[in-house]
Amino acid sequence: MSDPQFDVRYRLTPPERVSPGVRKRSRAVAHQQTVLQQDLTHRPAGMDWFEEALARPAGDWDGPVVGVYCGMVPPELVRAAGARPVRLDCGNAALVPTGDEVFSGEICPLAKSSLAMLLDPESVARRAAALVLPASCDAKTKLGEVLADFAPTFTLALPREQDAGRHAAAMAEELDRLAGFLAEHLPQRPKRRDLLREIERSREQTRLVRALQAARIDAPGAVSIRDFHLIVQAALAGADPEEWERRTRAVLAGAEGYTENRARLRPRLILTGAPMLWPNFKALNLIEESGADIVADTLCSGAQSLFDPVVVDERGWTALLRALALRYVFASPCPCFVSQATRMSRVLDLVRDARAVGVVNYGLRLCQLFDFEAYRLQRVLKEHRIPFLNLRTDYSLEDTEQLRVRLEAFLETVEDAP
Ligand code: SF4
Repeated sequence: MSDPQFDVRYRLTPPERVSPGVRKRSRAVAHQQTVLQQDLTHRPAGMDWFEEALARPAGDWDGPVVGVYCGMVPPELVRAAGARPVRLDCGNAALVPTGDEVFSGEICPLAKSSLAMLLDPESVARRAAALVLPASCDAKTKLGEVLADFAPTFTLALPREQDAGRHAAAMAEELDRLAGFLAEHLPQRPKRRDLLREIERSREQTRLVRALQAARIDAPGAVSIRDFHLIVQAALAGADPEEWERRTRAVLAGAEGYTENRARLRPRLILTGAPMLWPNFKALNLIEESGADIVADTLCSGAQSLFDPVVVDERGWTALLRALALRYVFASPCPCFVSQATRMSRVLDLVRDARAVGVVNYGLRLCQLFDFEAYRLQRVLKEHRIPFLNLRTDYSLEDTEQLRVRLEAFLETVEDAP
């Protein structure tokens, strides 16, 4: 790399730690979640394709793979460079202890399990020709230099304020730098024509996800939130985009034609907070098992990742990069920015539009950003007389029953709310 972000003098030989036993346990954890979802009362046809897409990220794709560690890395740029983007943020509880052996200290389970994926020579992460992550939270900012021991890595600098007027030009320049980095490690430099084509593809994906969310708002029983997130995360895991569109269109047609046999009386909730990555759907399982429906969410691993279309006003290269910056950075509800107004407004809009009666905030232990934001979120929702539950947990299943009790108590207050 001509402009290395990390001093090559201190490069380390990457360790290999994932044993066959750990690999087996991690597959068992994913299988357990798959089986749980197979038992859902109503499931769209064809969900096995999405399950398979998550079990085998990037599937049969034999071209280059780029590992991305956040929803703020534009996948269009990676695809325009001839590679398949695969989101490598990991939600597998069985991998956390392995990550813990390398990263001692108070580091979030997402960072630990994501690193553990790289320690496994059989993982898709080791196929990556390049890795990209943003300098968002402390964990992601510092993870980059560790990842660079495994594969060429680019840490995307972000502004601290979501003030597009002030920072959009600089962010477009930073995306241009990312395009240059990708060109060095992939078959082709992303070109304007390819980028436009990939933006169009993403716009179709967002159209489908929006329509699916709208169908779920009308009839939450049509598609469980767990299956909805499975569908979204299959796209993030590098599933074949055309096949994903075809399969999602079929799910959407089923959802739009779905009618409940009787009135659905389950409380309608909005979910916000930290990413929940397959197979860590513990909180989703609990909320549905406790008798509530999540009708919309702001998670960067959920609807939010494919919700806002990239808006193209001008078709020049810099204008396209600016459009990506506006979509992926300046409209992001991520808590890494100085103001939490974007997420706050998104939550309030969703409560209104999806006719929800409460909000659940999912806090991942050791993620201070979401913990900080919970304070103001709770106060603002209280002013709007919207019931709020802050569900803090980690990847382990030890607190499942305790969380269930808290959820059930919360749902009673929601049902009693005026
Ligand atoms: S919470 Fe923010 S930094 Fe973390 S993965 Fe999501 S968008 Fe990226």
